[in-house]
Amino acid sequence: MPTGIVGEFLDLKAETDADILAMQCGDFYEFFADDAELVADELDLTVSQKSSHGSSYPMAGVPLTELTPYMKALVERGYRVAVADQYETADGHAREITRVVTPGTLLETADDDARYLAAIVRGGARNGDDSAVHGDATGPDGPYGLALADVTTGRFLVTELDDVSDLRAELYRFDPAEVLPGPRVRNDDALLGAVREDLSGSLSVFDAEAFAPGRASHAVREQFGRETADSVGIDSDLALRAAGAVLGYVEETGAGVLASMTRLTAYGDGDHVELDATTQRNLELTATMRGDRDGSLFETLDHTVSAAGGRLLREWLTRPRRDRGTLDRRLDAVEALASAALARDRLRETLGDAYDLERLAARATSGSAGARELLSVRDTLALVPAMVDAVEGTALADSPVAAVLRDLDRDRARELHTELADALADDPPKTKTQGGLLRTGYDDELDELIASHETAAEWLDTLAEREKRQYGLNHVTVDRNKTDGYYIQVGKSVADQVPEHYREIKTLKNSKRFVTEELEEREREVLRLEEARGELEYELFEELRERVADDAALLQDVGRVVAELDALASLATHAAGNDWTRPELTEERRLDVDAGRHPVVERTTDFVPNDLKLDDERGFLIVTGPNMSGKSTYMRQAALIQLLAQAGSFVPARAATVGIVDGIYTRVGALDELAQGRSTFMVEMQELSNILHSATADSLVILDEVGRGTATYDGISIAWAATEYLHNEVRARTLFATHYHELTTLADHLPRVANVHVAVDERDGDVTFLRTVRDGPTNRSYGVHVADLAGVPTPVVGRADEVLDRLREEKAIKAKGGSRGGGTRGAGGEDAPVGAGTKQVVFDLSSGSFADGDGGAGSEPRGTAEMPKNGAGPAERAAEKTGDTGTDGDGNSDSDGDGNSDGDRPNPEMATVIEELRGVDLAETAPVELLSRVNEWQDRLDGR
Ligand code: ADP
Repeated sequence: MPTGIVGEFLDLKAETDADILAMQCGDFYEFFADDAELVADELDLTVSQKSSHGSSYPMAGVPLTELTPYMKALVERGYRVAVADQYETADGHAREITRVVTPGTLLETADDDARYLAAIVRGGARNGDDSAVHGDATGPDGPYGLALADVTTGRFLVTELDDVSDLRAELYRFDPAEVLPGPRVRNDDALLGAVREDLSGSLSVFDAEAFAPGRASHAVREQFGRETADSVGIDSDLALRAAGAVLGYVEETGAGVLASMTRLTAYGDGDHVELDATTQRNLELTATMRGDRDGSLFETLDHTVSAAGGRLLREWLTRPRRDRGTLDRRLDAVEALASAALARDRLRETLGDAYDLERLAARATSGSAGARELLSVRDTLALVPAMVDAVEGTALADSPVAAVLRDLDRDRARELHTELADALADDPPKTKTQGGLLRTGYDDELDELIASHETAAEWLDTLAEREKRQYGLNHVTVDRNKTDGYYIQVGKSVADQVPEHYREIKTLKNSKRFVTEELEEREREVLRLEEARGELEYELFEELRERVADDAALLQDVGRVVAELDALASLATHAAGNDWTRPELTEERRLDVDAGRHPVVERTTDFVPNDLKLDDERGFLIVTGPNMSGKSTYMRQAALIQLLAQAGSFVPARAATVGIVDGIYTRVGALDELAQGRSTFMVEMQELSNILHSATADSLVILDEVGRGTATYDGISIAWAATEYLHNEVRARTLFATHYHELTTLADHLPRVANVHVAVDERDGDVTFLRTVRDGPTNRSYGVHVADLAGVPTPVVGRADEVLDRLREEKAIKAKGGSRGGGTRGAGGEDAPVGAGTKQVVFDLSSGSFADGDGGAGSEPRGTAEMPKNGAGPAERAAEKTGDTGTDGDGNSDSDGDGNSDGDRPNPEMATVIEELRGVDLAETAPVELLSRVNEWQDRLDGR
């Protein structure tokens, strides 16, 4: 067992569960043994060998003053670093661990983004089963308590979430740097796996006791006061436990920022728009699907001039709200700012000078703020009157922008500013112990000490001159160093002329060093005064910093006002510069957009605006059109306009009436699913499942292709069933882009379904994208043209055209078995919606038969319709065709009995399949299950 310094290091290391220990040894922080190797590896430090009692150990070190950047680099790489400091004792010195720096408690971060520490607590399992499966994002799990604290700004949020999908959405949104899983969450591999996949932050195991209800609620009361904890309405035990764990962790790691956590914000289900993690990603809110910040909604809209403003704007965009009051206030303010260009510019100029007060408050409370940080506090507080002027003295005076400033305690801000201005020197040194931090006149005792110190130092400064004059010595200097203290240095040539009372202390090559009794005495005096001055000054500085820390809440208030004004002004700037308009919010279920644009695409393209109308009568749009025509853009644009309106922003449109939604759900073919080794189709179905479970009549749903990842008829069946379910049961406002033409006939069956298509101009075999959305379905898919555009060799394109024509004909003939016939080709020229007389064959899940396009109730009996099997020829199986099946007016399945009047008799297997099919309760069956059943039925019908 090593002893000595290495032994001490290893003992301290054993006390902590940190990955790395940095131990102070005089002027250095040292790492020994494995830690030395690891740190050297990560940070390119040189490893030397330390011999200790006959053994040798790797050692690496960094100077005391340079620990921060090294520590930061290690923590940002996910390590937890313990810091042991040295302190004086009666018989020498000792060391103890003073702080453990972890990703979620790193104060010294340089970037402006929020940095959250999260704790997750899972509630009682409903079946008493701890191992619920989370592969399916909506399993019977939860509820979960979640606490999120940003130690760099003191923000503290708690909430309770129903299930793992909500939890993941929230974690994705806040992207915590560190997550503390509670005792039950820790054993949940599936959940931990999901968290790891979604987040870049690290997972840390923390004392299970800290999550216990009693201890946690005690910690919360201690921190925020009994009333606060009660009045903010954390009625969730789980949320409280998570909050307690976060507080315990922050305390234990010794970040010293507990005091900056002054306010607890509890939020619930009803406050924000549901945006699951997939949707946040799909809508490219803060990063594009490829992971770039550039090209995201936030980057496009961000004209903020302060770090806090940027953070807040980002939060507004990722956490849109549901309450009219807040949104109207924000919109009023944006409107006022948008129409007052001069006042807005002046305000933004003022805000641009603000430092990050939320962060400075945390630095002050943790004791890590130096004089320069306090100067930043001073200078930012000095802006308050200028901000007030920029609002109250301008066109903004009577606007809601003024309300943002109303609750600010301006008197207290002024007092604190005065106090700092009186105290702090204008250009303090970087270090806190060198002196020069405080202004003359701040403290009499200090001033006296400084004066005496300066007089004493002056005597020393002028000593060389005096000695020269008095003793006629050339080449005399007076200097000081660590070993010799103050000395008189005389050139060798005149060294023998020095007076008697000079006492030689050292001979150098060209000079000699002397001291005198008086010099020694004066030296003692200067050093005494220097120390006393330094000590008193630092003491006074610490007192000042503590007073600033006591005002952490005020700093956070001012910081918040800066952030809010900045975010509002940023929205206004973007709106004014891009011809955006104020959305009219309504409680009605509608989204009515006149000449809408995509907020990001319009920046780089000559954008063709489009209208959109969704309401109670027309709540479900099937969007068709060739590849690359603009379907996705149109749908995302709808979702983004909705989202922007609920972030309190203007929207890119000529006019927009936006009914408030409770959630926005999207399913878009993602790029990276395959890369992650997951079956694309499984992911697609999980996403669909989540939407069908979570969306409500007040939600907006965007589906960009459903069922593409499987065989055609599987795909159609699922898309069909999902459409019916969304239309009949969920009744969410929905936009659904599909390449299954078969689905467009649904508009005839389901009253709230309408078709729109993105128009193209097709002449002489060339396709021109018009980017215009029109009513009605498109007449064909343009895959072959895209192949042509992409440079697929001409013979292949030509042959593909032929094959396509043949297939279409085939299909038309089969469909003709219905009441009417007709070709499927458009007339050429500009695309024409499917013409009257064209029939499509569709598979009707409710009756279990294939029906022609308008197979509504009550049409005359039709003959057998045959379906090509996976596009490869007529199916062997003949579907039972009845006159009284199909869907009725409100889209509910309307199958009333034997369903079997005339036409071919089914074989016995088919009869059972049909029976089973009838028995399916669509409302209760998950799409994934449906898929597998449809598969099974097909197999049985095929006799497989
Ligand atoms: P689809 O979903 O039909 O395959 P996209 O929505 O991806 O097509 O659009 C293809 C391209 O067309 C986009 O990259 C976009 O730049 C452009 N685009 C889409 N809509 C418009 C529009 N309204 N005005 C101008 N360009 C558009």
